[in-house]
Amino acid sequence: MRGPLEKTTPARCRSHPEAGAGWSCNNCQAPLCPDCVAVRRSMSTEYLSCGLCQGQAVPILVHRSRIPLATQLRGAWRYPFTPTGLAVLAGLSFLLTVCRWAAASTFLLLKFMPTVIGLGIFWGAFFHIVRATARGERELDTPDYSEVFTDCVSPAMRGLVGTTLLWLPGLLYLLFIKGWDVSKPMDEMLSNPAFYVSGGLPQLDWSQVVGDPILWLIVLAGALYLPMALLFAAAGQSVLRMLNPVAVLFAARRLGRDYLITLGALAVLTVALVLGHVVAAGIHALELPLLSRLGAEFVTCLAPFLMAHVLGLLLYNRGDEIGYGSPTDYLEPVLGDARPRVAAPSLRPASIAPAEPPPEASASLTETLAALTQAVGAQDASKALTLYADISEPRSLKQIEPAHHLFVGQAAVAQGQYPLAIKALETAADVAPDGPEASRALVLLARVFAERMKEPERAASIYRYVVHRYPNTDASRFAQRHLSPTS
Ligand SMILES: [Zn+2]
Ligand SMILES: [Zn+2]
Repeated sequence: MRGPLEKTTPARCRSHPEAGAGWSCNNCQAPLCPDCVAVRRSMSTEYLSCGLCQGQAVPILVHRSRIPLATQLRGAWRYPFTPTGLAVLAGLSFLLTVCRWAAASTFLLLKFMPTVIGLGIFWGAFFHIVRATARGERELDTPDYSEVFTDCVSPAMRGLVGTTLLWLPGLLYLLFIKGWDVSKPMDEMLSNPAFYVSGGLPQLDWSQVVGDPILWLIVLAGALYLPMALLFAAAGQSVLRMLNPVAVLFAARRLGRDYLITLGALAVLTVALVLGHVVAAGIHALELPLLSRLGAEFVTCLAPFLMAHVLGLLLYNRGDEIGYGSPTDYLEPVLGDARPRVAAPSLRPASIAPAEPPPEASASLTETLAALTQAVGAQDASKALTLYADISEPRSLKQIEPAHHLFVGQAAVAQGQYPLAIKALETAADVAPDGPEASRALVLLARVFAERMKEPERAASIYRYVVHRYPNTDASRFAQRHLSPTS
């Protein structure tokens, strides 16, 4: 899958040998640079055409891993240190502070709820970071907690299972094979279950066991195992697979050197995690009301969230090897975001047929348009649909307001008139691509293709267009959720 796509020397443009080629022509096979490809647009779809023969130009794709993981990791520490990232981190710290405070100041049985919520918030954010990074996002943004089970409960469960692997085998060894007496510290730990939230350790008498090499081997094995288990969890795989050592070893072997590099980065971050806890203890000691707790939470969150980012980078680069997302998501244009610099005239038939409509037709058109406006105003769906279906001339459609196209599109979907819905929704987006209706119309259009017409490919191409054309809108977030996880 990776072999034929990766070329040691990138292709050069046939007309401009000094420029790198980002596309190749399906017709004349020429490698093309941004100056040799023209963008043509028809309705909501863009076409690229070869500047030499007008054939279809397609992007030259390369695998993401052509930029080695080690290179990607170099700037990774910056991840939370952006204005948005710091704001998100402060918000999460606040929520975790509230949960920890609630867990600490309630009775034993009531501690359960805030502890679970805190865990959900923490692990929800953790897996959100892994997945967002794996999608190619390089700035920490707000996790989505809109669905309690998927965004909170399930991450908390997976996080617990994962981290339990780190300490439970060692603990079982100490308790049952070494006969370590920990009854007193265990009681203390059980009365403070919030220690899970950011991985604090119970106050145990470590002097009895710290020199035991077998314990260290068990802990080391857990530390080597945990990152892969967490990757499985982030990739939405089952808890059973997380606990299956054969699957974990097999995946680690496939990732090879990159898994070792990831382990190295995580080891550095573990040192940062310990330092974070030391600093947090110092901030706690200052005993400033609220601020101490908030500051401590903030400092202890930095290392785990950076760890999530590191895991996300591994998944971004090599996730296809462990079955995450679709293999095509890992291919990207060789020139990155570079766009063709030539814009070709529109392919619309209307623009090459400038004939005036006959006067009687234009008189009846005016009437139809007025009647349509009235029908939309009166929310009379069936009348609006009948009138709209009679208008076929693109220039006439252009005289209708985008909101009216959208109204007709929604009404046609509701009545099962899908061809009419497609026409209205495409036109809604086309007459005012920067208006507020355009992205809503396109999302609805994609849903018609996905859910009613059973054309998932077309739906996906429209969702991708929405994500690219209308970033940071409700429409693009909706579209992103409906695309496969890594695209
Ligand atoms: Zn060509
Ligand atoms: Zn060129």
